[in-house]
Amino acid sequence: MIKNATIRGARHSIQRALVPRRYKHNVIGIDLGTTNSAVAVVGSDNEPHVLENDEGKRTTPSVVVLEDNNHKTLVGLPAKRQALLNPRNTFFATKRLIGRKFEDPEVQRDIRNVPYKIVPDKQGDAALQTSAGRNISPSEIGGLILEKMREIASSQLKEQITEAVVTVPAYFNDSQRQATKNSGKLVGLNVLRVINEPTAAALAYGCDKTRKEGVVAVFDFGGGTFDVSILDIEDGVFEVRATNGNTHLGGEDFDIVLLHHILASVKNQTNGVDLSQDHLAVQRLREAAEQAKIELSTADKAEIKIPFVRDNVHVDMTITRDEFDAMTMPLIEKVIDPVKRCVRDAELKMKDIDEVLLVGGMTRMPKIRQVVAELFGKEPSTAVNPDEAVALGAAIQGAILSGQVKNVVLLDVTPLSLGIETYGGIFSPLIPRNSAVPIKKEQIFSTAVDGQTGVEIRVYQGERMLVKDNKLIGHFKLANIPQGPKGTPQIAVEFEIDADGIISVSASDKTPYPSDSPHYGKPNSVSIQVTEVGLSDSEVEKMIEESERNKNLDEEMRRYYEHASRADILVKDTEIALIQFGEQMEEAERNEVKAETDKIKRMVEDIRSGAKLHDPKLLTQALNEMQQKCMNAIKKIAEKQQKGV
Ligand code: ADP
Ligand code: MG
Repeated sequence: MIKNATIRGARHSIQRALVPRRYKHNVIGIDLGTTNSAVAVVGSDNEPHVLENDEGKRTTPSVVVLEDNNHKTLVGLPAKRQALLNPRNTFFATKRLIGRKFEDPEVQRDIRNVPYKIVPDKQGDAALQTSAGRNISPSEIGGLILEKMREIASSQLKEQITEAVVTVPAYFNDSQRQATKNSGKLVGLNVLRVINEPTAAALAYGCDKTRKEGVVAVFDFGGGTFDVSILDIEDGVFEVRATNGNTHLGGEDFDIVLLHHILASVKNQTNGVDLSQDHLAVQRLREAAEQAKIELSTADKAEIKIPFVRDNVHVDMTITRDEFDAMTMPLIEKVIDPVKRCVRDAELKMKDIDEVLLVGGMTRMPKIRQVVAELFGKEPSTAVNPDEAVALGAAIQGAILSGQVKNVVLLDVTPLSLGIETYGGIFSPLIPRNSAVPIKKEQIFSTAVDGQTGVEIRVYQGERMLVKDNKLIGHFKLANIPQGPKGTPQIAVEFEIDADGIISVSASDKTPYPSDSPHYGKPNSVSIQVTEVGLSDSEVEKMIEESERNKNLDEEMRRYYEHASRADILVKDTEIALIQFGEQMEEAERNEVKAETDKIKRMVEDIRSGAKLHDPKLLTQALNEMQQKCMNAIKKIAEKQQKGV
């Protein structure tokens, strides 16, 4: 139980300069994509370059094959090529599972759409299982891909690479970022920093030969995720003003829509042959669907021909761009709301956006380009390569960290407000949504009742005014606070979000004890690192939506709760007075005061449980009466004592 007593010297520090290290070796930038990954490095010409893989390709499929019987691991194109032969052991799009619980509805949805097995591990996290029954985590798969990207760089640069900057979708939560960092650790690659993909793309755009300034929207539509961010580029400072998106919306969803269309038409043409349970057939159809989708970006129609998909079942059909656009329109429309919200969160109007950058393979689809152009009211820029911008930006960030590139600074933002529970179930945010990270903030709180020797710090994330509507992400207790009157101890609560978006919270007793006190100079503090946030993107979205819908209601409820909390404290004071003076009061008076406190307690209970919202005026009136009656009774005792009765 802690009460917000004073807000003292709340520090709001935005780290404006990164400490440059002396440039010793190359720090590579890796775009660890859901579908494709890329690696880049800033060369001696001070320009970022994408490094080609063994096949001479600039992107590498994020696909891993695990062969248990001969301990063979394939990564990249060779893995993708043999997906058909070994669907149970070919793991693709596993980034969608990273840092997620098995029970997560998004994971449950994926289970129905992939040919490999997803299982819960001991902690209940989503894991993958090979056909031989071996479990492997999505982080480990990520590690194998990072290792491959490092090999590509090491062989191209003829130097053993040990450090990298890795990108993640802006909407990744804390545990997904942690899991990504872990991926590197598992293969001995030191991930110096994880940065948001759209931020990386803007870096690549802004650090081009001619430095650019202004407000930029990055629209990143990849294989598995959709992100939109709005950044301010000024004097070499890249500040993310807002981000939004959906980590479960991407090209794969388009492939699945087309896949279902193909399955349905096969059923139609063959009098009911259902291929949907045939993993091999589904995998072939899925590849054909993706191929057709890509063709439709440049052609008006695409042919889908797969002979002998099973026994004597053949697929032979044509799909037009218009048909494809129509069947995927519900998916395309899903980008509209996040874009609008992002612009609003950045406190801008569409017309304030100077440039729109398209990133991710799906932005090659003409309908998507058209929707984006209509949404922003301007044609998107063609200055960045949608497949390479993210890796190039990561390489620039790597070069900033190594000290090779100077005068560029990156600022990122938090997706949800962070705060703690204060007296009466009220959420007190310390770090508001869309604050630039890294950030550190401290606020002083105090105790709510006399003699309280411990405070329970409950950390929440969300936008609602009452903690019960937000998400509890961690809690701990600061004990051994010396007994004292309520409101005197000074408990400093500090929140820190580091540059990777990882949260830590600490509480310490900062009461200035006199030098003869046994507590003088004795540090008393506790801290936790929040590693189990597990807020999925859809939860984040839902929270923001709910907070907007409930804004007025929340304001009102907050008023009721504040009155209830105040009533609580006054009732406690009165009850203490009753303990101290009750025996000396006249019985009738004592009972009257007691009746008043009971009445108010019931009113508070009604408000807290939502049974009845008593008018604050009535509550204040009751409180006044209670206090008045108590004071009168105490006055009488004093008068009696003076008269010597
Ligand atoms: P990620 O960032 O998720 O790794 P990418 O940015 O590489 O993904 O985008 C991959 C997605 O883009 C895939 O779904 C792929 O089918 C799709 N894609 C690639 N090229 C095209 C194209 N020319 N037209 C339409 N979709 C494309
Ligand atoms: Mg991408």
